[in-house]
Amino acid sequence: MTERTRVAVLGATGSIGTQTLDVLDRFPDRFTVEALVSGRRAPERPAPVVMRSTASDFEPRLRELVVSPRVDLVVMAIPGAAALQPTLDALRAGKRVALASKEVLVMAGDLVMAAAGPLGDRLRPVDSEHSAIWQCLWGEAQDAVTRITVTASGGPLWAHPDWDPESLTVEQALSHPRWSMGPKITIDSATLMNKALEVLEAHHLFQMPMGRIQVLINPQSVVHSIVEFRDGTAKAQIGRPDMRTPIALALSYPERLPGVIAPTDFGATGPLELYPLDDRRFPAVGLVREAARHGTPWPAVLNAANEEAVAAFLDGKLAFREIVPLAREALETYPGGATTSLEEILSADAWARDYARARIVRTSVG
Ligand code: NAD
Ligand code: MG
Repeated sequence: MTERTRVAVLGATGSIGTQTLDVLDRFPDRFTVEALVSGRRAPERPAPVVMRSTASDFEPRLRELVVSPRVDLVVMAIPGAAALQPTLDALRAGKRVALASKEVLVMAGDLVMAAAGPLGDRLRPVDSEHSAIWQCLWGEAQDAVTRITVTASGGPLWAHPDWDPESLTVEQALSHPRWSMGPKITIDSATLMNKALEVLEAHHLFQMPMGRIQVLINPQSVVHSIVEFRDGTAKAQIGRPDMRTPIALALSYPERLPGVIAPTDFGATGPLELYPLDDRRFPAVGLVREAARHGTPWPAVLNAANEEAVAAFLDGKLAFREIVPLAREALETYPGGATTSLEEILSADAWARDYARARIVRTSVG
């Protein structure tokens, strides 16, 4: 019998965290849940180690946990910038990391990839599009790839063309047509900022120039992404939208676990449509391209300002239509220079948060 993989789930009470536990608990002969880490809410199940971010000694304890010899694999599903340091710590300690938190690649893609080694060795993507691209690339030569298409559902504004982005409510923005996810990524799906972050995520994970990554809308969320090759062939990975499939693969790679979800009835999915992205209606993807052209730390600035704007929107302090413009403003105003150091990336992140918060206060007062 092979040794069981000892797993630490970070973000254990969230959408990805609970679906991860669902997979882990179904394969007790392969995995043991060693540790559960969460924010405000305590996990509902026991584990040898349980940690909350509200504890005063949280950061040093988390650091100890992710490098501990008791842990083989870390599932990283803490949203936002808080995921960066523990991801780097785990990778540098030689742990396998199943990475859902795309923000860490957006902020510090070069550092994370340098710590990770080749994809599949220690780093495994959980984001469904990136899991799809990864699967399409298995057995392929890097220089045979000509283009990557990251697909998007389009979010609630695509699903409801009659909804007015000028006056979109929190409730409307949270009503994702295809996926049930945490609030931050759901708002990012409505602005398409999620897709923007995913283009950059793909750029880092697959070492592909930004200009060779495009976005297409697949409203059915069945085509999870597409890779094209120099002979004119394209591969897509398709299936019902269910995060447990990419989660399971990230846990068990290179093996596929049996019966993770029921097979998709492709005769019943209806037509599969692909549409170009309207860059004027959804400027977020263009913004991330601009941030990438500037280089590090501009994507971190964009990401941090967006995170603050989304939090303010969810708090009723900022209108939906102001989220992406605020991120753009931070990007265009950032006064710092190019860098490769983690310290400077974090200070750019802090600058963008201060900038966004100051703007939000003024906006809500004015
Ligand atoms: P969520 O809001 O549902 O859950 C977040 C989890 O993180 C909760 O357990 C929360 O308690 C915990 N948490 C929050 N702040 C923390 C902190 N500072 N320290 C420790 N724990 C903290 O979020 P989610 O939808 O599960 O998303 C998690 C990450 O996965 C995000 O980066 C998101 O972009 C990415 N992702 C999610 C999905 C999805 O389907 N939900 C798909 C692709 C990628
Ligand atoms: Mg995704």
